[in-house]
Amino acid sequence: MKKIVIILTFIVLSLFLMFLYGKYQMKHKPLVIIMMGPPGAGKGTHATELSKDLKLPHISTGDLFRENIKQNTDLGKKAKSLIDKGVLVPDDIVNQMLFDYINKHKYFSGYILDGYPRNVDQAIALEKFLPENTKLLVINLRIDDDLLVERITGRLMCRKCGKPFHKTFSPPPNNQNICDDCGGEIYQRSDDTKEVVVKRLEVYHRETKPVLNYLKNKAKFIEIDASQSKEKVYKDILLEIEKNK
Ligand code: AMP
Repeated sequence: MKKIVIILTFIVLSLFLMFLYGKYQMKHKPLVIIMMGPPGAGKGTHATELSKDLKLPHISTGDLFRENIKQNTDLGKKAKSLIDKGVLVPDDIVNQMLFDYINKHKYFSGYILDGYPRNVDQAIALEKFLPENTKLLVINLRIDDDLLVERITGRLMCRKCGKPFHKTFSPPPNNQNICDDCGGEIYQRSDDTKEVVVKRLEVYHRETKPVLNYLKNKAKFIEIDASQSKEKVYKDILLEIEKNK
């Protein structure tokens, strides 16, 4: 009799622990948000804000490359000429750089991806890399190409903290090339010229757009009209994330 009570207590305790573990896992699912959209749609700008509001790290593969170029690393040397032409850096290089970075920083509870995946093979690599219980949200910033060229060619950013500015829409304070947040130098990206932008848009339509269909079946997919004001776009994004988190 005593033995049966011990076994039953053990079973009940085990079930209770399993229940608690299940609840813990549900609550602590990693949340990965993928910002999609053509160059200039506002992925970086909105990811920066989201990162502060949701307290999730913002990972931009373009920024990781630019940091490597600045530090003159081997990776930076390999990527520079491709970036300046507006074409994609090979998948094996991007995948390794990104996954090493996530592992090194132990970003296991989630992050916001900006600029990745850029083709279906990268989306497949990401799927394999993510833990199975990851909650995946895709924010697709929809906007027509003709609005993008002016946006991108006027774009400026702080070399130190990455804060975005725009020659027409949000010029640097006092028209000086100094960031009002951190005092860093404001500059224009070398791939934000008209010729390179045209190439980047072509690459987006050919290689990145098919990722949208692929991700539709794998993630919660949110479409946002990115031709609206920056404030309205961000409000829509936050609202949708709250609904779908
Ligand atoms: P972005 O800052 O996202 O506009 O990226 C700038 C450039 O970096 C792109 O035009 C590509 O040359 C390169 N790059 C960034 N992310 C990726 C990626 N996921 N795959 C391949 N190339 C990338």
